[in-house]
Amino acid sequence: MKDLRLILAALLLLLPLPALGQEGLTALARALPGGLTLAQSGPGLTLDLRLSQPVPYRLRLVDGPPRLVVDFREVDFAALRGEDPLAAAGSPAAVQALRHGPLQPGWSRLVLELDGPHGIDSAELRTDAATGRARLQVALSPVPQAEFTARSVPEGALFEGLPATGLPAAPPRRPGDGPLIVVLDPGHGGIDPGAEREGLRESDLMLTFGRELREALRRAGGFEVVMTRDADAFVSLEGRIRIAREARADVFLSLHADALPDGGATGATIYTLADEATDAAAAALAERHDRADLLAGVDLTAQDDLIANVLMSIARTETTPRTDALADQLVATIRANGLRLHRRPRQAAGFSVLKAPDIPSILLEVGFMSSPRDLADLQDAEWRAAMARSVVEALQRWAAEEAASSALRRR
Ligand SMILES: [Zn+2]
Repeated sequence: MKDLRLILAALLLLLPLPALGQEGLTALARALPGGLTLAQSGPGLTLDLRLSQPVPYRLRLVDGPPRLVVDFREVDFAALRGEDPLAAAGSPAAVQALRHGPLQPGWSRLVLELDGPHGIDSAELRTDAATGRARLQVALSPVPQAEFTARSVPEGALFEGLPATGLPAAPPRRPGDGPLIVVLDPGHGGIDPGAEREGLRESDLMLTFGRELREALRRAGGFEVVMTRDADAFVSLEGRIRIAREARADVFLSLHADALPDGGATGATIYTLADEATDAAAAALAERHDRADLLAGVDLTAQDDLIANVLMSIARTETTPRTDALADQLVATIRANGLRLHRRPRQAAGFSVLKAPDIPSILLEVGFMSSPRDLADLQDAEWRAAMARSVVEALQRWAAEEAASSALRRR
């Protein structure tokens, strides 16, 4: 018996526990110690889960036996090991069993087995703005079998009964909200140079432009700037999103100057996220960025999971109009500053780096290295200053617009 315990202890040591130094790298939400409680509440019960950060989730009811299934993307439950909320005083009798753990790469699951049919009365994930921690609260109460059958999904059905819950979108800016937090993302870097022409690398050009834009924003005032990289270093696409989320970004701006194989593309182009690319060139561009990430050793297959797309699209409905408004402002200010725009300046494609569902995210191709004119512009400090000015002005106008519409909504 003692031997068995020793073996178990040894096995636990082999499990990939989140090392302190790696916490920032994994961006994994963690259940907090003692953070899972179940309580009786009238005829029903509540589930309360405290997490280190908000995370997309989905609730489903499944029959045979009746269960509540909560899927997360993604939660590390290691801190709850050895804890048994069912043994706690006041634990609801309706809960027969409780399980939680990893499901598949990128996904975790929590299952409550119930003694009879229940319905979901409410579900809410709230984030504490001060600590960044999140709390999921789900209330259940008994319902007749027929109602449960109507509300539950067959085992294995992934998309039916999808509730309108998910990652809460960041609220629009209000007057007096403090500096606008802008995350600048110089594209590529390290082992991924991006486009290359005439001995120049997109990664270097965008680091230079990113630093200059950071200076322009700081001089303008009212902005706090965070860079996803400030060196010739590789940062994964998911890592860039993580940096934006950790910075509590109001806006994410990815900077690029790619080369398009057909050679005809010239002028600044503003890309937003969409499942359907505006054209084949935009689709190929997004694909090439993902492939560069894969070649650098980062697996994006989990990211492209269909379930993830469904979840993300829910939170995104709030963010999309705000992103579109910023994209329109960028087109307007770049044009007003007399800089060349692409003949179709507003485009869309499935860029992985734009997939933070709660942060307005834009990919700005300041020009294309495949265009000789653009390549000359990119090396011209005056041109870059005018482009930086355009971005500053667009962000100022957008922030003012957001504050005004937020004031209107509150009336
Ligand atoms: Zn690029």
